[in-house]
Amino acid sequence: MSSILNADLHCHSVVSDGTLTPEALAERARANGVELWALTDHDEIGGQHRAAAAARAQGMKYLTGTEISITFAGQTVHIVGLGFDPDDAAMRQGLRQTRGGRGPRAQEMAGGLAAVGIQGAYEGALKFVSNPELVSRTHFARFLVESGVCRDTNEVFRKYLIEGKPGYVPHRWASLRDAVGWITKAGGVAVIAHPARYRFTPNEEYALFTEFKTHGGQGVEVVTGSHSAAEALTYADMAREFGLVASRGSDFHSPDESHTDLGSLPFLPGTLTPVWELLADRIQ
Ligand code: AMP
Ligand code: MN
Ligand code: MN
Ligand code: MN
Repeated sequence: MSSILNADLHCHSVVSDGTLTPEALAERARANGVELWALTDHDEIGGQHRAAAAARAQGMKYLTGTEISITFAGQTVHIVGLGFDPDDAAMRQGLRQTRGGRGPRAQEMAGGLAAVGIQGAYEGALKFVSNPELVSRTHFARFLVESGVCRDTNEVFRKYLIEGKPGYVPHRWASLRDAVGWITKAGGVAVIAHPARYRFTPNEEYALFTEFKTHGGQGVEVVTGSHSAAEALTYADMAREFGLVASRGSDFHSPDESHTDLGSLPFLPGTLTPVWELLADRIQ
């Protein structure tokens, strides 16, 4: 398959911090012309069988997906996994472990918010959560918008949920080695998500790409809802320099919050190898 394909290999459902069900996402993706789709919920693959069935019902090709949170050089980095076996026991166990820290972290976040006068944030966030193992900052953001503290979720992150702000709790996620290992041992391809979003020094970024490759990582997101056109070109160069295949995904979360809709991104540059070429035999 060529790079001229409306593939959307990054989005979130109610199984993590999206607001649509896997079925509603599949319908929306299809309506927007997506030809190959992957649902990539944060640290969770519990929606994979539903998503695959929904894609099939829509006559759309499907790759399994997830987006794993890791800590690298003191920052949180996201690694997308594509085309793995969703029933792989080691991967399921690893992800369960990485989700395990979210409950206590959410309690601490609520404590930080209470200290600046915002009461009941834990219970408030939970109202927006459908997967009890996956309380995310996004759910806190939705509660703070609902209760009128901020106008939109972006403002909540800026004022309350990023490093240095009262609701931010640093967290130790999985390691790069573990995340890449779970994905590749389950037959999938690991992809560095939205690389332009991190605040690494050039040396740290070089280390991320180098270690990622050492552990068996093979791809990088080039065209994503989180990249400008200039950033896509930068990471197209990085893909060539490091011999990585390229991925494309909107990172869609919600019709009310996401500025990039499913299936609405530019195509991958024709000079790159698309990740779906490596995964041809994993496409359902
Ligand atoms: P968590 O995994 O709980 O740390 O939450 C991270 C999630 O917060 C990301 O996956 C995004 O969906 C969301 N997020 C992060 N930064 C922002 C931001 N500046 N504005 C809106 N949402 C954000
Ligand atoms: Mn998210
Ligand atoms: Mn992400
Ligand atoms: Mn994402």
